[in-house]
Amino acid sequence: MNTGQAQPHQGVIARYRAVMDLPQHAIPVTLLEGNTPLIPVPQLAQAIGAQCDLFVKFEGMNPTGSFKDRGMTAAISEALGRGAGAVVCASTGNTAASAAAYAARAGMRCLVIIPSGKVAAGKLAGAVAHGAQVIQIDGSFDDALDLVVRISQRHPIALVNSLNPYRLEGQKTAAFEIIDELGSAPDWLCLPVGNAGNITSYWLGFTQANARDGSGLPRILGVQASGSAPLVLGHPVENPETVATAIRIGKPARAEEALQAAEQSQGRIIAVSDDDILAMQKLLARSGIWVEPASATGLAGLAHELKHRRVDIRGQRVVAVCTGHGLKDPDIITRSFPTPTSIPASMDAIEALLRADSF
Ligand SMILES: *Cc1c(COP(=O)(O)O)cnc(C)c1O
Repeated sequence: MNTGQAQPHQGVIARYRAVMDLPQHAIPVTLLEGNTPLIPVPQLAQAIGAQCDLFVKFEGMNPTGSFKDRGMTAAISEALGRGAGAVVCASTGNTAASAAAYAARAGMRCLVIIPSGKVAAGKLAGAVAHGAQVIQIDGSFDDALDLVVRISQRHPIALVNSLNPYRLEGQKTAAFEIIDELGSAPDWLCLPVGNAGNITSYWLGFTQANARDGSGLPRILGVQASGSAPLVLGHPVENPETVATAIRIGKPARAEEALQAAEQSQGRIIAVSDDDILAMQKLLARSGIWVEPASATGLAGLAHELKHRRVDIRGQRVVAVCTGHGLKDPDIITRSFPTPTSIPASMDAIEALLRADSF
């Protein structure tokens, strides 16, 4: 009899260590990340004219609200096992919150360097809550990344940006989960691209699984914001601009790998406007899935390609990765909202409003 009891989830290292390239000395530090839902979104598919089986891999359901936790469990586990007492990262926000949480869990110190004024409030609050030392620099994410690389070279502090190879080893587990759930790889995978660690990780995961058990390979649609699209333009962007702050990166660390993943998978990397991103964020929210702007970018790219008839996905299986939770960046929603109507606390007043067609 099925008692309805599932195997308890123990985090991505416990589940996938055999297929992760993690050194022996790594001591697992976990917050039970991963195992995120793969949500079918048929209405949303219809709304964008996608006659396919469309799924959202909702990575906002990780412990600190973004996919960064998958890579962070691996990076921190390795750093702890090697005896590092402190970690450092540059961040547009989510990496900081994740590094701070896992460092706290491991009893390590955490230093994060963020670009000034461009980090969503919910992300910064996370890093502070977990006890990280947060330093804001008068510069871009790319400047912050240059600095932390140099800090880690001069001091006994482990670098946990996605230049750290163990981050990719952790992040690739999302590809394994998708295959485990669907039975094989989807036809297409759409996702946002910022520093390009995630697209690199997914491709690593899918190619590794396919070599092992023939689970197939998706075509990859990587999507950047048009004000911050170095991989589409073919050169770094000096002053990247976009509402999607998590992908506001002008010089991706994994640029080469990202271009290769797109090419080898017979996919591509495109850019969409901030308006397209915000429209998709809204459409997703109206389907019950609230993500931060960057996280809507992959699907916005799919909608864009469908609209311009550059992709034929009829009857196929498509997975869109939604990388982080909407609660991280509530400002972007409330800013464009009228303040709620204020009325007396009476039934009459409420019913008067209900009679008006504002409801
Ligand atoms: C980090 C991040 C991205 C970009 O991922 P890269 O690996 O830098 O390409 C996208 N969305 C969210 C929510 C993120 O936190």
